[in-house]
Amino acid sequence: MVKQGVLPDEFSKPFWDAANDERLVIQNCKACDRLQHPPLPACRRCGSEDSLEWKEMSGRGTIYNHGVVYDCPVRLLQDDQPFNVAVIMLDDDPGIQMFSHLPGAPVDDVPAGASVEVIFEASANGQKVPEWRVTG
Ligand SMILES: [Zn+2]
Repeated sequence: MVKQGVLPDEFSKPFWDAANDERLVIQNCKACDRLQHPPLPACRRCGSEDSLEWKEMSGRGTIYNHGVVYDCPVRLLQDDQPFNVAVIMLDDDPGIQMFSHLPGAPVDDVPAGASVEVIFEASANGQKVPEWRVTG
């Protein structure tokens, strides 16, 4: 399914640029040794702006939970209703969570706790977005 286009801002641009290169990077505070997502101008814990770096993730995760969307306000997505929405916990840090439509997984037949790996799909404006595929 084609997703709505993403317009990166100055803080999220490295995340989206990496996605276009099919790499998943997450903001990390070197001072706290702590990941944070979505990207922010400063560390949420210590407030440092200078300690932030981008760390490449393994691209592996686990399905935390899921739901099915039957009535979405985004017109672009309505053709694909109903569709899955799952919360993915990154294996690198389960505290970092991302949403996925789980391309390829049957609607409402989503194995919670299953392993997933990141893939990248082009959105409506060509920006690639991370998605997740069930691996087992
Ligand atoms: Zn910090």
